[in-house]
Amino acid sequence: MYDALDWLWADFQAHTVLYTLIVCLVIVILQLHHWHQTQLRQLFMFAPNALVILDESNQKLILANSTACQILGIRKVGKEFKLPDRVTQCFIKDVLIDCTKHAGLTQTMNWPVSGGASLVLNLTGKRSLYKRRHVWILHFSVKHPTHSELKQQVESLSTIKSAFDNMSELIFVKNLQGEVVASNRAFQRFWLNREDEGLADIQNVMKGRASYRKWTVSPEGRSCLLESYQNTLMNSHGEKIGTLSISHDVTGWYEMQQSLRDEMEKRKSTEAALAQRDSILQSILESSPDSIGIFNENMVYQACNEPFVKALGISRIDDLLGKRLQDVIPKASYERLSETDNKVLSQGVSLRYIDRIYLSDGSSTWYDVVKSPFRDPVSGTFGVLVMARDVSERYLVEKQLEAANEELEKLSFIDGLTQICNRRRFDERLETLWFLHIREQSPLCVMLCDVDYFKGYNDEYGHQMGDEALIKVADIFKSVINRSSDCVARYGGEEFAFILPNTNTEGALQVAERIHSEIGKLSIAHKTSSVSDRLTVSIGLACFVPAYGTSSEKLVSRADIALYKAKANGRNRTHAYQMS
Ligand code: GH3
Ligand code: MG
Ligand code: MG
Repeated sequence: MYDALDWLWADFQAHTVLYTLIVCLVIVILQLHHWHQTQLRQLFMFAPNALVILDESNQKLILANSTACQILGIRKVGKEFKLPDRVTQCFIKDVLIDCTKHAGLTQTMNWPVSGGASLVLNLTGKRSLYKRRHVWILHFSVKHPTHSELKQQVESLSTIKSAFDNMSELIFVKNLQGEVVASNRAFQRFWLNREDEGLADIQNVMKGRASYRKWTVSPEGRSCLLESYQNTLMNSHGEKIGTLSISHDVTGWYEMQQSLRDEMEKRKSTEAALAQRDSILQSILESSPDSIGIFNENMVYQACNEPFVKALGISRIDDLLGKRLQDVIPKASYERLSETDNKVLSQGVSLRYIDRIYLSDGSSTWYDVVKSPFRDPVSGTFGVLVMARDVSERYLVEKQLEAANEELEKLSFIDGLTQICNRRRFDERLETLWFLHIREQSPLCVMLCDVDYFKGYNDEYGHQMGDEALIKVADIFKSVINRSSDCVARYGGEEFAFILPNTNTEGALQVAERIHSEIGKLSIAHKTSSVSDRLTVSIGLACFVPAYGTSSEKLVSRADIALYKAKANGRNRTHAYQMS
């Protein structure tokens, strides 16, 4: 019994140990499995190559390691992994279909990256089971360029380098550590032996793009203004890898801007001066009572005032401004005015004249017109300034005065009673003719004619009748001289004198005869005369060729002697002076 129990107890103990061992073994195995799983996951997650686990059924990401996140741009949101937005579900599906067809084979594919570019990757896919799900384990590796691709890249890099070297801009590239990794030839030449100045960074450039301008000195020693731009350089994954700096000389542009600004300033002040000049001119035009007009070299009116257009018979100033006179006023008026306009413009001379302008109502105005050429110092153009002053009043007064003077002059040579020349005129004329006859050596004759017993006539018939008789006698004297050069004057009282140029004694006697005859025909009754019952005259004449150095008075005195003789000989007769 005890043996059986012992056996049973021993059997039980043996089984228990065995079971315990088994359980322990299972636990160890499970622990080992878990550790192995963790190790695998660690290995997966930190593998240097990009690894991705994709659910085969819905192509959703289950897992992606850190390298895959970096290269492929996968983000982890919570427990989920998200593809970048630019990678569509469709793209994944197509890639997978391709991978399915060539399971296990390495494929080359273009993975889209930012900026529309793509990354050339090698992709290897393997179907597997993960957490009881059918999955694809995808392995991405960056495709290494082939020899020819490398050669091409080197070629294109050297092309880029020589392109940079040929650029006039100063270019350099710095890495994140601030070390210069590249610079072009222009940069090296410009900043030779003073690179530190050229390599100065713009503050905060790592935040993006920055620019500045600074004055420096060129290698040739001239001042120059450099405009610099610095940009953060990013690689194809959007990571910052350094800075790119480009500078160029903007001195010329700056100087151009400066001179443009100066020019603008000058223009502004010129415009202000012009505006001021315009307003001064406007005030002059508006306030002037004189007519003022200005036209340019094309005869287009640029300025004028109200009196000016009014004088031309134009109703408004605006009807003339910007137009030529010929387009505004009648042709006949224009032709008259344009003659002087053209002369002033073409010859550059000033003209001044008195002009009479007729208005449509028939009235007329006299203008003192001045036309002067001018040159506009601002525009450099030529033109004419026309100024006209209404001088009608003054002009008419002057004209009246002129007429009055003329009349006065006439009167000063005319005898008031008989309207023939007076003694003054006789003396003047004799003096002139005397010298003429000396030069010509021709005979000159003076004839004195006196009314006989005229005192008695006055006494008998009255002074009034005496005057009338003198007028009638003077009229006879005027009528007997035929030549225009002959002259008869009232010499004084009832005594008259004749000058007969180029006339000898014989000719003069004929004139004297005509006088006696014509006076006789008058038949003026003269009761108190001792020689006749009619009015008679006595004549004394002297004719000779005047000698050099003699005076005309001699001729008159001889004529007077002759007259005296005629009186003495009985009156109503003529006596010619005889040279002894
Ligand atoms: P004789 O024959 O000698 O010339 O004598 P007479 O009387 O004519 O000369 P006399 O010289 O003695 O007188 C001239 C007169 O003429 C004097 C004056 O009465 C007159 N007489 C002179 N001038 C005028 C005048 O303007 N009008 C009038 N009515 N008579 C005048
Ligand atoms: Mg007398
Ligand atoms: Mg007399």
